[in-house]
Amino acid sequence: SAKQHGRNQFAFFQPQMTEEIREHLEIQQGIKEAIDKDYLYLDYQPLYSMESGEIIGAEALLRWQHPINGLLSPARFIPIIEESDLIEEVTRWVANRAGRDLQKILGLREQFSMSINISGAALHQMEMCDYICHLKQKLALPDNSLCIEITETSMISHLDSCEAVLRRWKQAGIEIWIDDFGTGYSSLAYLNSLSIDGLKIDQSFVHNLIDGHSRPLIDAMIALADSLSISTVAEGIETDRQHAELKAMGVEYAQGFGLARPMRIDSLIELLDDEHRNAEALAEP
Ligand code: C2E
Ligand code: MG
Ligand code: MG
Ligand code: MG
Repeated sequence: SAKQHGRNQFAFFQPQMTEEIREHLEIQQGIKEAIDKDYLYLDYQPLYSMESGEIIGAEALLRWQHPINGLLSPARFIPIIEESDLIEEVTRWVANRAGRDLQKILGLREQFSMSINISGAALHQMEMCDYICHLKQKLALPDNSLCIEITETSMISHLDSCEAVLRRWKQAGIEIWIDDFGTGYSSLAYLNSLSIDGLKIDQSFVHNLIDGHSRPLIDAMIALADSLSISTVAEGIETDRQHAELKAMGVEYAQGFGLARPMRIDSLIELLDDEHRNAEALAEP
């Protein structure tokens, strides 16, 4: 009967709900401790120029090494932290750490572009915007060396309020890239009115390039970027074939496990050193 069905449903759902609430609480309470005790760290995934094959930058990706639960993925804990003010503290931590590591890298090579991911919640906070501008100034980071990635979905849901924030970042010499582009069911009008520097073509399109039907969509995204004079990155490149095709199609920058996995700062600096040594060896007569 319906009544019985309802009772079963109740019995089935309740423990699951409790589990979800427990997880949310655990993550929200744990993140402060994680910041204080240095359980957070950043991995950096290199970004390559399609044309030269050289590393031109990296994206900072947040990691939480939990003492009991092991390594937690940002895809799991960021959305939960975004429900509260804690996301602000986490964002400041990420910006500081990535900013200082960028400073370190800029001591070794003249040009480098460091991307950080900013959650949509920060898009209407002038305070967070100013904080990042001041950080750039404090660390004396050159213009266009610091990039902010905002997912298309969060951009769309904060469209009214984000224009002033994006303009301020732009004026401060901070680049703005649209992350996971093509997944947001967007009106494209916002691309023209906002201060956008580039599109990161979502990895789902890259994965469906060879066997799937995403080629015309990627072509359209490249044409759109070209007509707006903004850049393109293909995310999630795993194979040589994908890399070659995307290069031939006109994508400017490449990122993916097939080129380099996210890594600790020491490994990134080693990789940059190797690249530098190889370039010098090639230049020798
Ligand atoms: P995202 O910004 O789109 O970052 C790319 C994600 O794809 C990363 O996952 C990266 O490890 C993964 N990836 C890169 N290349 C490949 C590939 O070839 N194949 C596959 N299958 N995956 C690849 P990750 O590090 O787990 O991050 C997931 C998401 O969490 C990020 O997506 C970003 O939206 C969010 N996130 C990460 N760090 C932060 C942060 O500091 N702040 C905020 N607000 N969000 C962050
Ligand atoms: Mg990103
Ligand atoms: Mg992405
Ligand atoms: Mg993504």
